[in-house]
Order: sequence, then C-alpha cells, then structure tokens
Amino acid sequence: MEKQNLIILGGGESGVGTALLAKHMGYHVFVSDKGKIKASYKKVLISHDVDWEEEKHTESRIMAGHLVMKSPGIPDKVPLVQKIKQAGIPMVSEIEFASRFTKATIVGITGSNGKTTTASLTHHILKQELVVGLAGNIGDSFAKQVLQNNFENYVLEISSFQLDDIADFKPHIAVITNITPDHLDRYDYKFENYIASKFKIVENQTKEDYLIYDADDEVIVSYLKNNPVNSKLLPFSLEKVINNGAYLDQENIKITIDNNQIIMPINNLTLEGKHNVKNAMAASTVAHLLKIRKQTIRESLENFQGVEHRLEQVLKINKVQYINDSKATNVNATYYALESMDAPTIWIVGGVDKGNNYNELLSFVNEKVKAVICLGVDNEKLVDTFSGTVETLQEARSMQEAVSMAYAMASPGDNVLLSPCCASFDLFEDYQDRGRQFKDAVRQL
Ligand code: ADP
Repeated sequence: MEKQNLIILGGGESGVGTALLAKHMGYHVFVSDKGKIKASYKKVLISHDVDWEEEKHTESRIMAGHLVMKSPGIPDKVPLVQKIKQAGIPMVSEIEFASRFTKATIVGITGSNGKTTTASLTHHILKQELVVGLAGNIGDSFAKQVLQNNFENYVLEISSFQLDDIADFKPHIAVITNITPDHLDRYDYKFENYIASKFKIVENQTKEDYLIYDADDEVIVSYLKNNPVNSKLLPFSLEKVINNGAYLDQENIKITIDNNQIIMPINNLTLEGKHNVKNAMAASTVAHLLKIRKQTIRESLENFQGVEHRLEQVLKINKVQYINDSKATNVNATYYALESMDAPTIWIVGGVDKGNNYNELLSFVNEKVKAVICLGVDNEKLVDTFSGTVETLQEARSMQEAVSMAYAMASPGDNVLLSPCCASFDLFEDYQDRGRQFKDAVRQL
C-alpha cells in the first residue's frame, strides 16, 4: 500500500512526539513550523530521519497530506489551517493521533484551572499500584510515551485546544475540574464555544465510561442539564451531600461509587486551600474507580509534594512565609490562593491583563491583604481597583524590586504571596520564568 503522508504543523513537544510515533507506524512524515524549531527537537528529527522545515510553510507539500496533526498552540484562524479545512484534509490533535495506537485505559483531565495539579496527584496515587504514564500538557508528549513506554494506563492533562481537534478520542474516565472564562481569544470571544470545547472530552464516551466533575460549578451543571451525556456521572462537591460521587462531610472526603464508600480525612492533606480539596476529591474518585486500595489513596494524599509554581511554599525567612503561585494567570486561580491565606498577606500581583474583573477578589483583599505590590508594565487597572481597599500599594518593575519591597514591609507571621492573576509576557518569558525569578529573589534575601 502507498505510504500515507502525515503533515505535522508545529515542531514542539507534541509535534516531535507525533513525528516519531507516526514514522514508526509507517507514515511518511513532514514537520512544518512557521517559527524556529528548538535545537534539541531538530536533533531528534534529524536522528530519526524525519523531514522538516522551519520559519516557513511550504503549501504545496502540506496540501499533499492525507492527514494533518495540528499542534495545540496554532489557532484555527490561521489562513493555512483554514485552507486545509476547506480542502477537506482531516486534521487531528496529538492526543487523537496517539490514542489510535494504544489500548490503554485513559483518564483525561480538563478544566480551566487545576488540570496539572489534579493530573499529577491522580498519577501519584495510581502509580502506587498500576503501571501508568502521565502525559498531555505535562512532560513528555503522549505520542512519544505511546511509542516508547506503551503503558497500560495514562493520565492525560488535556487543554481545550487538544480537544478541539479530536474525532474518536475517548477517555474511559473524564474529569472536568471547573470552567471559567479563559483563552476566549481562541473561541471568537464566546464563552459558550469554550464550554463546548471542554465538553468534547465526553463526546465519544458511552454508558460504560465516567465523567467526574465539580457539582458546585454552575457553568458545568447548567451545561449538563441542557446537554445530557452518555457517561455515568460522578460529581464532587464541597457544599452538598452527593450519593454517587464525592463530597466533604465535616473533615472527611466521602466517596461513594455504586454503594461502595471510602472515607478519607482531609486534615493531613499536604495541599492547602479549598480548591485542592476539590482536586483531591477528583483524583481520589478516579483512584476509587480504578480499585486502588483506600489505604494507598490516603497515604498518597498525605505525601504528595504538590507541583512547582502552584501555591508552592518557598522559604520561611524571619517567620515570614514566601509562596510562589506564579501559575495563577487568571482571577479564579488567585481567588483560591487568597482564600487559602491564613495570615496577613503581602500580595504581589500583575502582568498582562486578560480582561480581568478583579472585583471578585475585593472581599478577600479586604480581609487578608495588608499590602499590594503591582508588578507589571501597566498597573493602572490594579491601582484603580485596590488603592481604596488596602493601606499600602506600591509598584515594582522587576521581581527583585517586588521581593525587596515585600521583605521591607513584612512582619513575623505574615505571608508573601506571588499570585499574579495575569499572564507573564510583559516582564518574563513565561510563568515558569516568573516563578523561578521569584524564588531566586527570595533565596537571595
Ligand atoms: P492548569 O493546569 O489547569 O492551569 P494548575 O494545576 O496548573 O492548573 O493550577 C493553575 C492555578 O490554579 C494555580 O494558581 C493553582 O493554585 C490554581 N488552582 C489549582 N486547582 C484549582 C481549582 N480546582 N480551582 C481553581 N484554581 C485552582
């Protein structure tokens, strides 16, 4: 049979992983990237004899493809993508492509916030008793792992961009952590498009499959009311009793699946904040479904170390706790960070505003924040919103300056929290760079 041409748009982690898997499966592969491909990825492509180009798209070659894998970073509105669609060439995402070559049980985790934390925690619990890979937006691409490891189970962190281009992809267990407005520029500024994209995670599920979701999230609940799904529903809640699913009963998480109940205390959870109780409920429900022993779940919740840049405790200096929550790039994430503060807090906030409404934060700021340090190129909106609420508000232009200011203001017993609520691209390369600069500045104090 003639070899199928697979065109891969984007030479990053998912593109290169797909290239290796596809080559192994007998495709003729061509990787095309409009930008520069990282040297380390080029090396991999060359050593595996994969054809590639960078800083251009050669349309004649691309339009000769039988199938296109579009990396999640490339928006639909790019003219080339439109052209491919018009020509009727099937286009898939990496998770769609890779899932065609594995029979593993897949746990797919999506949502606006909490994907990485919940996926990492789920993986941490499952790996105690199962052979399981962690992929998606984390670490090595799913495609590469399907090729190299071929695990029996995968926990996948899945963005809406990955879900936009699925066809048959079906996780046996889907998790939707929550849905709040984010990335709307990729969805014609329509929240309903973004919601529909998240729900594509259940599109191919049957009644043998499960959807675990936050029953306190009105967006999710109202979508489900209007759009019934095939999947078995396992909600979790902090606010109400759930008979089939998980809820918080005083200081215990109770999870019931088909009358089989497990109970776990939350006082020993290593992760702080209500949002992390939700993440723990979601992860434990997955584990209970996959028959992990109760004792294992409990121990794993107690020894999970958390993920870098998510409410990460950095250092205590002069009895002041420094906390790195650089990954908080939207209001909802910062909301939970502030909520979880149990001491007077000096809050470092700012960056590229994504049309944020900061009013949701005002009551926590009133109650817990003793000083605001605005760290961004344009701080006007933050200054307008918070100058009447807190006594001290200062502006910084670098992380070092912000941390020095915080140090000067802090008294024993305070917290210094970096939870920016905004994207990082004005002063930093990305949120990791921002978080690392924070930690470096703190360590130099
Ligand atoms: P994602 O992968 O979806 O971006 P992360 O786990 O990386 O999510 O967390 C992103 C930010 O959101 C962090 O600031 C984290 O503290 C916060 N967060 C984590 N879980 C939740 C949740 N369930 N609801 C709201 N915010 C959360």
